[in-house]
Formats: sequence, structure tokens, C-alpha cells
Amino acid sequence: MTDTKQQLSPSNGAALVLLSGGQDSTTCLFWALKQFDSVRALCCAYGQRHAQEVEIARSIAAKADVPFQALDASVISRLADNALTNHDLEMDQQQPAGSYPNTFVPGRNLFFLTFAAVIARSHGISNLVTGVSQADFSGYPDCRDTFIRAANVTLNLAMDEHFQIHTPLMWRNKAEVWALADELGVFDLVRNETLTCYNGIKAEGCGHCPACKLRNEGLLTYLKQKK
Ligand code: ZN
Repeated sequence: MTDTKQQLSPSNGAALVLLSGGQDSTTCLFWALKQFDSVRALCCAYGQRHAQEVEIARSIAAKADVPFQALDASVISRLADNALTNHDLEMDQQQPAGSYPNTFVPGRNLFFLTFAAVIARSHGISNLVTGVSQADFSGYPDCRDTFIRAANVTLNLAMDEHFQIHTPLMWRNKAEVWALADELGVFDLVRNETLTCYNGIKAEGCGHCPACKLRNEGLLTYLKQKK
């Protein structure tokens, strides 16, 4: 769970990046390319509103020139209702008092990390990279650092392995994630080619869903700071 190159071993080895095709995971993909000798991308498709996420993730992986795998993880959306997979539900715009917004998909990141670890293990990869952030986590409990640390221990115990989960965005707000993309030389790619919007509109998105608001406010803040 490091986010600087200095903290990694001299032989950085290989990493598997969880890539959804959004701003965060795309930034993580290019971060990983700077950190590790070889990188693969895994997209867990779980019946989101927008199957095009997989195609966008695939095209980003192609641009980054890394092997790409899409995994059918749709079982997650059949376990419980949420507004990302059930088109009949109106998305909560913010966290309701005392509960989570209905865009929360219970267990999602635990499933994703478990799938990623099993696949990484089959490729002899011990580094896993995920774009979760506690700074801008939309109220989701499985984006928190404590969860990631616990999951890391659990995966190691479950498979008797030494996985290391890297969360380069954990303590960055959205403006700082834009800054990182810029540092990595992929600001325009992230701005124009990724899909973060819950309504399935690439780049700037619909502008009014919770994901767009977070992304676009962060972008405005970053562009203002940059001036
Ligand atoms: Zn949107």
C-alpha cells in the first residue's frame, strides 16, 4: 500500500490493475506503468448500466499497450438491488442520513479484489492496483483504507501469498487525481477517453449525476489551481 516508487523494491515486478475505464482507474493504470516492469488490466463487468464501460476500458488498455481481460462479474448485480444496475431506481444524489446512497454496490470491491488476486496469482503477479479513494469516496465503506488493509491480509491468508494492494489515489481528492494524470502525461487522455458518468456519457459526462459532479468539480478546481 505504497504510492511512491522509492518505497517499492528495486525489482518492481508485475502488477494487475483493476480498470473500469473511469478517471480513477485509468490514472492508476498509467501510474502502474511507471512503477512496475509489466502491467496487465482487468475489467470486472458486473452488469452496470453501461456495457460500453468494458469497451472503453479495453480501448484504454490498448492505448497503454497492456494485456486486457474482461471478467463477467454480473453475479454481483444479481445479489441485491442498486441504482447502478437497476434502471428503475432513481440515483441518490447524496448520502441519505444514516445509510448509504443507492449507488452503493455491497461487496463490490471485495469481490473485485478477490477476482483480481486469483487472476494475478495465475499469472505470478503479486501487486494489485485499485483506484479507490478515501478522500473522495462517495460514502462507500469499501473505498476506505482500513478495508483495503484488511482485504490485503485476508487475500494473503486465503491463498498463502504475499499480495500487495496499491492504492495510489487513497488520499488524493479529485483535483489531486487530475494533477496526477497531468504529471503522468495523460491528462488529455483521461479527460477525453474515460467514462465516469453513471449515465454512460464519456468524457465530461451528463454533468448532473453524482459521479459527474465529483469529477467535474475536481477538474475545475485543478484547472483553477494550475493557472
Ligand atoms: Zn453523469
